[in-house]
Amino acid sequence: MTESSSPKTLVFATGNPNKKEEIAALIGSDVELKDLRDLGVTEDIPETGATLQENALIKAQHLWDRFGLPVFADDTGLETTALDNRPGVFSARYAGPAKDPLANMQKLLTELQGVADRSAQFRTAIAYIDRSGKPWHFEGIAKGKILEEPTGAKGFGYDPIFLPEGHERSFAQMSLEEKNGISHRAKAFRSFISFLEDRKS
Ligand code: IMP
Repeated sequence: MTESSSPKTLVFATGNPNKKEEIAALIGSDVELKDLRDLGVTEDIPETGATLQENALIKAQHLWDRFGLPVFADDTGLETTALDNRPGVFSARYAGPAKDPLANMQKLLTELQGVADRSAQFRTAIAYIDRSGKPWHFEGIAKGKILEEPTGAKGFGYDPIFLPEGHERSFAQMSLEEKNGISHRAKAFRSFISFLEDRKS
């Protein structure tokens, strides 16, 4: 690959400043990262895909069409074995359009009441569209199980009911650094970043 295939400006299709900060720290200072706020994008980008990958690609494509800059988007879901991988792509709105994390957790716990198999995994899909318009896909998975009740106060979303494999504490009992060492999103981002690094050389 030539050096020109490495982006100088990279768009991250997120409105979440914490996510931008998280990846900016990993990505190196030669890349200028711009999020939706930096670009003045205020409209809701529809997430109409049937899979996490499709949703990530829809978001990335929407911004590529608009700005013509290299862009990536992520989408995450919690997949529960006993529930045929639900809530999966519907994780954010599982208990309704309000995207209420407590209601989402409660709904999942109710559905799993009395269910022996509590195995589950978080999956993050990343779609990247390079400057030529070519799409690339990356993924990260964190395996674990769903606890009987919320435990811990850190993190967000389903963290209090997710016990990662090989650990004694839920994601919500871990520091950000500890969670980032094993999380689905960190794994997906690391794989995407090493792809960008490879393209530089
Ligand atoms: P998003 O694609 O990052 O917006 O994630 C979709 C939904 O999955 C969020 O609304 C959260 O409920 C949940 N989620 C995503 N990542 C995590 C995580 O690391 N821990 C717990 N819940 C998460």
